[in-house]
Amino acid sequence: MKAAVYYGVDTFKVEEVPLPRIGEYEVLVRVRACGVCGTDVHKAMHQTVKAGTVLGHEVAGDIIEVGKKVTKFKIGEKVVVPHHTPCFACSYCHHGHHTLCDQYTKTNIDPGGFSEVIRVPQPNVERAMLSFDHVDYEEAAFVEPLACCIHAWERLEVFPGDTVLIVGAGPIGLLHMELAKIHQTEAMVADIKEARLQQVEKMGGIPVQASEMKGVQADIVIVAAGNKNAYELALSSVKRGGQISFFAECPPDSHIAVDPNMIYGKELTLTGSYSSTPRGHWKALTLIRGRNLNVTQLISHRFGLEDLGKAIGMASKADDCLKMMIKP
Ligand SMILES: [Zn+2]
Ligand SMILES: [Zn+2]
Repeated sequence: MKAAVYYGVDTFKVEEVPLPRIGEYEVLVRVRACGVCGTDVHKAMHQTVKAGTVLGHEVAGDIIEVGKKVTKFKIGEKVVVPHHTPCFACSYCHHGHHTLCDQYTKTNIDPGGFSEVIRVPQPNVERAMLSFDHVDYEEAAFVEPLACCIHAWERLEVFPGDTVLIVGAGPIGLLHMELAKIHQTEAMVADIKEARLQQVEKMGGIPVQASEMKGVQADIVIVAAGNKNAYELALSSVKRGGQISFFAECPPDSHIAVDPNMIYGKELTLTGSYSSTPRGHWKALTLIRGRNLNVTQLISHRFGLEDLGKAIGMASKADDCLKMMIKP
């Protein structure tokens, strides 16, 4: 089978790799759509993964083989495949921090989603993989990124009518904007790129030019752009008593200056949000299936495996693109 293998920054080669073999509690999935995520771009551009890695984790596909002891799934079922699964039994899990569980990142799909076929390990099969109908593969591939956003919202205390400022109008910022509407809050989305602000307006949000936003104040600020300017903007635009969601990953060794007296005097709450939980996947699929939000309007490009490097390069520059779908 073929996979797009990472060799550095935006260099990927489509190679013939062995078809994974499954154990008796595992399944094999033919990948039909895998979204390019900001974290794939981050890993490639900052070279935080080794050459030879296959990236991709926003996977929807068909089951083509099931292990002898698998009872929950059948060949031919359409599934959303989570790449990580918590143990649900450790101290982190019991505190509700499922994404911090030691097992979480150890339960990975093999190889990544930018390949024709993946092996899904037992914990993911038993506790997190979801079968779907009534949505197409591309919509299903939005379950993971939407679940990441849902995880952030679950860590905030939201009141209807709150003002929410989302910093960054990329695909993730726009998913947060859709969730803001579902939470009956007023969404402003800040970015420096005019084309992205136009998309915000088209989708019914309030666009804010990030370079000239003096005076903008919000109850909740969600940082959906991985750079320190975005975080500094969040700290200067949160209301007294407000909350900031640290959602986007910055380049390694990033630092921001925080005045402790501001957090003290304004009673701010800062929450981190990393990755997604099985519960978030369930909610995300339910929202997409119920047409509570339209995710396909966020797709700007569709590519085969051979154009993954091009897609990563485009996403890193945020040039005229939103969500890019890889169709192996
Ligand atoms: Zn993702
Ligand atoms: Zn755990």
